[in-house]
Amino acid sequence: MLRNSLFKNKSLFLETWVQNGILLVAQLVNKEGQLLTYNDFIALYNFPISVQEFSVVLGAIPSGTLMLYKNTDSSISTSVTLPDPAESPIGRICFSQELGNSNKRIRSLFQEDVVSLPYVISYWNRYVPDIKWKTVWMIPHKYLIVNKVKDVSFKILHKCYPASHYMVKFKRDINTNCTFCGDHPETVTHLFWYCSFTQRFWKEFSRFVIVHILREFSLRWENVLFCFFKFPKKNDKCFFMINLLILLAKFFIHKCKFTNKTPFFCHFFKDVEMYIQSISDSTNKKALKTIYICEFLRVFF
Ligand SMILES: [Zn+2]
Repeated sequence: MLRNSLFKNKSLFLETWVQNGILLVAQLVNKEGQLLTYNDFIALYNFPISVQEFSVVLGAIPSGTLMLYKNTDSSISTSVTLPDPAESPIGRICFSQELGNSNKRIRSLFQEDVVSLPYVISYWNRYVPDIKWKTVWMIPHKYLIVNKVKDVSFKILHKCYPASHYMVKFKRDINTNCTFCGDHPETVTHLFWYCSFTQRFWKEFSRFVIVHILREFSLRWENVLFCFFKFPKKNDKCFFMINLLILLAKFFIHKCKFTNKTPFFCHFFKDVEMYIQSISDSTNKKALKTIYICEFLRVFF
């Protein structure tokens, strides 16, 4: 938006521009993502402004913003109408006659999509029966793992993981195809489960578990999402290890996405070995338990 443009560190607001529907940076760049010249601008918008005013506005656009338009097809209509503020979700709260704590209602508006617990819980309950939520929330806290590992699982569960498809909300012309295969829209389910590359990863993952940890093992998308929260007591050591591997695997897939790498199981295995190595001297209770179980199962040593 043009409102992010600064002139002498002040936000620019030029009424004539707003009245003429010039609100977006995208309206000031050509198809190649370059800024319009003064003559282009006058020819396109047909409203009189001075060269000086024109160069003040264009000079005020942050270079970071301009970069977003480089080499993208930013064809956009020449006039944009402002939505009626009273019709926006916030407007409906602020301009309504209803009494009550509007701050609280505005805050809940922002939380609804991202972190509202009841919303997330009822969303998943529709798809998976009998989720033991208390156990699910506790699983990542049983291990000595850094927050960025927990974050990936947390964001997937809270439906705010930044898969490309989700990012369209924030930037319209982003490439939404899967980082791994390039063939399908990159939704969270695709990236972490259905993608052929991820499927191959989980297949090898399962083979490893079957050979080294638990013979009667099979993995479903819901297990990747929530980890295993229901299992026979006699297998608790196995599932302690399997859940750790699932948490680390989700982080590994995430890391591959952001470094543009294919998620190979052999690379993941190396990462896990390094992780186990890194906690093997720790006196932390969670680390001690993990090391004890690795020794018990004879894995990663
Ligand atoms: Zn894919």
